[in-house]
Amino acid sequence: MSRALLVIDMLNDFVDEKGSLRVPDTAAILPRVAQEVVDARARGESVVYVCDAHRPDDPEFSRMGWPPHAVRGTWGARVVDALAPGPSDPVVEKTTYSGFHGSDLDRVLREREVRMVRLVGCVTNICVLYTAADAAMRGYGVEVVRDAVAGLDPEDHAFALRQMERVLGARLVDREAP
Ligand code: ZN
Repeated sequence: MSRALLVIDMLNDFVDEKGSLRVPDTAAILPRVAQEVVDARARGESVVYVCDAHRPDDPEFSRMGWPPHAVRGTWGARVVDALAPGPSDPVVEKTTYSGFHGSDLDRVLREREVRMVRLVGCVTNICVLYTAADAAMRGYGVEVVRDAVAGLDPEDHAFALRQMERVLGARLVDREAP
């Protein structure tokens, strides 16, 4: 079964110290995510970057109360340099929590005959959780690399991991040794 690594929202605004919506725990997961990318490529698996790309007036900023972040075309919306996508890696833009909503992620995965997605990135209980939910409901197998996803709040992080495992049938895995 073909598998793809989904690198979720490892963007300057979420990861960099100067980012507008920094998720502090991304500092700890960054080397593990980088190793996941290296390993996926070595196995010949697709690496798909799933990235917030908002309009400056996106309702996520007003209705959902987030500070403006990852505005399309800005530095904040770029994948951090340490994880820069390769020339053949798809970069899928999204405008809300699920990587599938209003994006071409499903088509990108189908074209590559992917049936299993492996999730890393941030935020555990937001974009990771809702992308996992959508993937599971669309019939994809889901793996979540427990120590390569970052939350903003430890309780929400733990809840989301439990929810993905028990309700969505995701397999929680630890970073594989290189
Ligand atoms: Zn966003």
